[in-house]
Amino acid sequence: MRESYLPFSKPSIGEEEIAEVEETLRSGWITTGPRVQEFERAFAEAVGCRYALAVNSATAGLHLALLALDLKPGDEVITTPMTFASTVNAILLAGGTPVLADIDRTTFNIDPKAIKSVLSPRTKGLVPVHFAGLSCDMDALRTLASEHGLWVLEDAAHAIGTEYKGQKIGSRPSPWVVFSFHPTKNITTGEGGMVCTDDEELAEKIAVLRQNGMSKGAWNRYAATGTPHYDIVMLGLKYNMLDIEAAIGIHQLPKLERFLSRREEIVQRYKEAFSGLEGLILPKLAPYPARHSWHIFTPLVDIDRLDIDRDGFMSALKERNIGSALHYQALHLMSYYQKRFGWHRGLFPNAEYVSDRILSLPLFPEMTAADVEDVIEAVVAVCRQHLQARRTQ
Ligand SMILES: *Cc1c(COP(=O)(O)O)cnc(C)c1O
Repeated sequence: MRESYLPFSKPSIGEEEIAEVEETLRSGWITTGPRVQEFERAFAEAVGCRYALAVNSATAGLHLALLALDLKPGDEVITTPMTFASTVNAILLAGGTPVLADIDRTTFNIDPKAIKSVLSPRTKGLVPVHFAGLSCDMDALRTLASEHGLWVLEDAAHAIGTEYKGQKIGSRPSPWVVFSFHPTKNITTGEGGMVCTDDEELAEKIAVLRQNGMSKGAWNRYAATGTPHYDIVMLGLKYNMLDIEAAIGIHQLPKLERFLSRREEIVQRYKEAFSGLEGLILPKLAPYPARHSWHIFTPLVDIDRLDIDRDGFMSALKERNIGSALHYQALHLMSYYQKRFGWHRGLFPNAEYVSDRILSLPLFPEMTAADVEDVIEAVVAVCRQHLQARRTQ
């Protein structure tokens, strides 16, 4: 058995990031300033959007993007139950009503057919999530949106580096794509997010909203060429990214390709080792061309063939010093939303099927070949042990 605990995720921070943070700290300017601007420019170029606006988390980015869309009370926004709470929270905080639509069992992404069944005259937009780094079927979603006059805000927290039919996620925002730089995501800034759009007016609105509704950022006010005056032109929030954070991002972005190919390599090894393994159901590819960014590797525990459930499986891995994580327990099973909206088990059978079985195995670029083999050994051992127990019952 492994001697030390292997976490399910770990950021890859190099000497370049450390040096840039140190330089930022010594520079006399640590909040939003030249490094944020540099990171925004580089990110916009990398994903192929016109405007990239850095914020202090993807949650903040989703909130601002939805605020900029001016939701009115009663406006409905459709999203998936297989996401992090911030997707639904942002809709609520921006004054909208979240409506869930079930996922499909191949990609674990929101199912366009399920969206059709919950459309109403109050539906204003869609917030698809590219689950695990596998793109949603954007052609189907865009067609549906244009038929019904809806906007699409992509929660691309998992999807830095993801492509759909040869196009990078972020390159066709309609109007928004929001990325996350949380430490578990494909690149990190500590905490942080990026809001991408091609719409100049909306981009300006975000720039103002993220700085308390101020007409001008602090960098402009305090710079040698700036003026001290500013106006408050709308009700905003304090969601700006720091230069200390952007200093990390500036050096993470050029490493993205390397990170993605290492993730891909590890996943290939997992798939090869687990193919045909009784007790585990492997993630599938999309029925359309899509480059998976493998933010997480999420097989399903085949609980119908084992004598333990998913939580038991995770504990058994932990006993073998292998970490794992849970992305996600479906949101309609969370008590707050159940009380507020009457959501309950039974509403979304596909999300429930996945939610009861899913786990995220360790996956990060700095995993060694030996780490990967340790995970494989532990997973195979847990499956074998718990299949046998059932057979001999
Ligand atoms: C991580 C995540 C978020 C939130 O990102 P933060 O940067 O941590 O706020 C939102 N949606 C999904 C799907 C995520 O995985």
